[in-house]
Amino acid sequence: MTPPVSPDAKKVAKLALLKLISRRVFPDVFTFRLLRILGIDYERVKEPAEKVFVSRFLGGCAGAFCISVDFDNRRDDRLEVDRTATLEILSLCEEFNIPVTWAICGVTAINEKDVFQRILDSKVKHEIAIHTFNHVDFSSPECTEELAKSQILRTISLLPPGAGRETFIFPWNREGYFNVLNELGFIAYRGRGRKLAYPSKNNGLWNIHPLFYLSEKNYTCSNLLKALLDLAVSREAVFHLWFHPWNLEKNGDASRYVKDTLRPLFEYAESKRREKKLWVCTLGDIANYCEARSKAKISFEENSRGMDISVECRVEDIRFRKNQVLTLGIRIIKDVRKTLVRLDGSSIPAEEPVFKKQDRRTGVIYLNLLLDKHFKNVHLDFES
Ligand SMILES: [Zn+2]
Repeated sequence: MTPPVSPDAKKVAKLALLKLISRRVFPDVFTFRLLRILGIDYERVKEPAEKVFVSRFLGGCAGAFCISVDFDNRRDDRLEVDRTATLEILSLCEEFNIPVTWAICGVTAINEKDVFQRILDSKVKHEIAIHTFNHVDFSSPECTEELAKSQILRTISLLPPGAGRETFIFPWNREGYFNVLNELGFIAYRGRGRKLAYPSKNNGLWNIHPLFYLSEKNYTCSNLLKALLDLAVSREAVFHLWFHPWNLEKNGDASRYVKDTLRPLFEYAESKRREKKLWVCTLGDIANYCEARSKAKISFEENSRGMDISVECRVEDIRFRKNQVLTLGIRIIKDVRKTLVRLDGSSIPAEEPVFKKQDRRTGVIYLNLLLDKHFKNVHLDFES
């Protein structure tokens, strides 16, 4: 009889497998099956290699990283750890300038009023999301449409004007009442299944698929988290991490967990962001970007001296942000250093911030376009 495999050995095997997958040691056709072994669904959207395209993520980043934290404590015995952990998370986010999508339960915002205020006052631009008033299961037959609606509106009434209007986080990720969410203007949610994928639009909202739940068991799993980040970058997908502040308890204290597990991940994410490989953002940011991307139509003409590109993007749905930035990718063979870009007739030199990235290996220029109008005309001059 073979001896049982210890949890530690399983962890090591899991990590080794993830690293091999992200380094593309195996052909991509096996990725789906290998990730299924690890309990992760994988969906690869193959896109044609167009000459001019809208980048999958803002700024031409290969992957995106977002975090949702459920601020939903309803237990007295967890009150202290929930409070201290929230403060620890907030200060770590401020140190690395990493925004988080805070899923707020109205009752927790009332019970932990001072800590909730710290979330609102943070110098990082966090997203405030709704997680119902007292953690109601939207999929339950006992939850009526009226109850669902009042659960949301009661929580919104505790927020500053305009906050909490983009992302809804279902308690236990149990989905329901998408009609109410649409009506109240939500655009993003965290779906039930764990998946390494590009966001998909279901029932009128963008599902930012969760990939990993950080529980008490995952203390010192920072190498695993880093491997998942690498995986998202290598597969052009989103790494959506989620947890509760009280998950970060280690012997009655949250600071050790934050220091040993979250900090190394944040440092790693920061290095990937600096390399312009990773877009660190909120769920609402991703949903707005994906919507604009799905509406963009591109046409272009090219000759030996340059390229004329026109971008049409009509986001008619008023739930989405008006002034969204969309990143255009242009594959060129010419020497990019000598390319001039003119946007809607005005000349923009290559040094301007509109040149978000020049990747000379692949020969792609990324341009950030502010969609304040339905049409944008981009003219490229190839100068020798
Ligand atoms: Zn919850």
